[in-house]
Amino acid sequence: MTEMFKNLIAGEWAGAGNASRNINPSDTNDVVGEYAQGSVEQMNDAVAAAKAAFPAWSRSGPQERYEILKKASDEILARKEELGRLLSREEGKTLAEGIGEAGRAGQIFAFFAGECLRLSGEAIPSVRPGVGVEITREPVGVIGMITPWNFPIAIPAWKIAPALAYGNCVVIKPADLVPGSAWALVDIIQRAGLPKGVLNLVMGRGSVVGQALLQHKDVHAISFTGSVSTGRKVAEACIASSPMKKIQLEMGGKNPLVVLDDADLKIAVEAAVTGAYFSTGQRCTASSRLIVQAGIHDRFVEACIERLKGVVVDDALKAGTHIGPVVDQSQLDQDLKYIQIAKDEGGKLAWGGEVLKRETPGFYLQPALFTETTNAMRISREEVFGPVANVIRVKDYEEALHLANDTEFGLSAGICTTSLKAATHFKRNSEAGMVMVNLATAGVDYHVPFGGRKGSSYGPREQGAYAKEMYTTVKTAYTLA
Ligand code: NAD
Repeated sequence: MTEMFKNLIAGEWAGAGNASRNINPSDTNDVVGEYAQGSVEQMNDAVAAAKAAFPAWSRSGPQERYEILKKASDEILARKEELGRLLSREEGKTLAEGIGEAGRAGQIFAFFAGECLRLSGEAIPSVRPGVGVEITREPVGVIGMITPWNFPIAIPAWKIAPALAYGNCVVIKPADLVPGSAWALVDIIQRAGLPKGVLNLVMGRGSVVGQALLQHKDVHAISFTGSVSTGRKVAEACIASSPMKKIQLEMGGKNPLVVLDDADLKIAVEAAVTGAYFSTGQRCTASSRLIVQAGIHDRFVEACIERLKGVVVDDALKAGTHIGPVVDQSQLDQDLKYIQIAKDEGGKLAWGGEVLKRETPGFYLQPALFTETTNAMRISREEVFGPVANVIRVKDYEEALHLANDTEFGLSAGICTTSLKAATHFKRNSEAGMVMVNLATAGVDYHVPFGGRKGSSYGPREQGAYAKEMYTTVKTAYTLA
């Protein structure tokens, strides 16, 4: 009997007429569970519950919020192996990556528990004699959250934790493809003592419950992570609604990793291979464009292929697996489509790109490395979101910087070099929100801002203390003494 997981509305678990099957991409015979597919009515009930809970929660003290977030953090950390296993089973990350991500969710809740106690304001003199000015931060209201499948516990955590810490109420709609980790997270937070209605979960289709959330007049802000095309729809709906909603969009990437002739080859290869292919390349920060100077190019490509030969692609839950499966058939089809596009454009498939058979039926793809590509090709310009990367040969640093910035995205960018001058210049002149020196473009901390520029992001940054830009609104109060 497959377990049925329900939506959380006004503090009660509510079933829905429909459910979707959550399938393990390492073994498509394995059903993780049946997850409720909410309706527009359920979404409306969830928003109404959040609205009703807001007056009391927004006035709750920092100690109460601290205790709830801390308790949630403690349970997530105590159960990170089990949560990590669920994550790997439903999404296809390796067990080590799954446990790491679950642990990250716990650390995020601990950080924002602390933030509950650190909210501050300012009292400053007015330019008018006898008048005082106070600047304070208040919660925004009801926050709608729409999240993707690729970080199914970390992304819900880094949105929910600051929203609650700063006194907001939440309605979250996780990705319908991978809802189990978000369900488990919401269950933990609710049991940590949250008043009814402060946090609501409505699972289901983006075009149904997602749209209902975007269009609801009682939702004050939307925090979205996902693809650029959905992000654009989210923004349009939020601006069209009355009143307009505050928005935060985190979207795609085509992140460059520059490798200069003077790079430490070992560091560069490690940054490229782990950044491009680990987590099956399904990271918005994946190092998918490898921009390599001519003098090191051949040695770099050869060393990457050697490194890739030792990479094990297999069942995410198996010991010894380095890369798990692609998340589902349609993402695998997209990866294979781009492999064909890159070949048709004249790229040389230097390694991999084959669909692999393993003990159990799953979506296994050998990492693909293309060489002899240009930055004008579609493989360099469009996000594949799979274990596919391409090498672009350049003559010098100036050309590398120019190509790194020649993209409509701007999430993360990296450089491998032993030159302080080149590293410093790159940090200042990269048009990305996050810059890495001698590190992969993927892999970030949780206590500092996360986000990009250009087509990758829109609105305030996520994570760290900067999250308050999204989850609070500033009030300026004047008093005649
Ligand atoms: P997606 O855009 O297909 O879906 C994201 C979410 O939006 C899902 O919950 C989906 O159900 C919902 N949705 C879809 N259509 C909707 C609609 N019309 N109205 C409302 N909601 C709708 O993205 P995905 O395939 O789940 O995730 C992969 C994408 O996410 C990639 O582009 C990746 O780069 C991006 N991503 C970005 C970041 C970041 O922080 N920049 C992090 C992770 C993933």
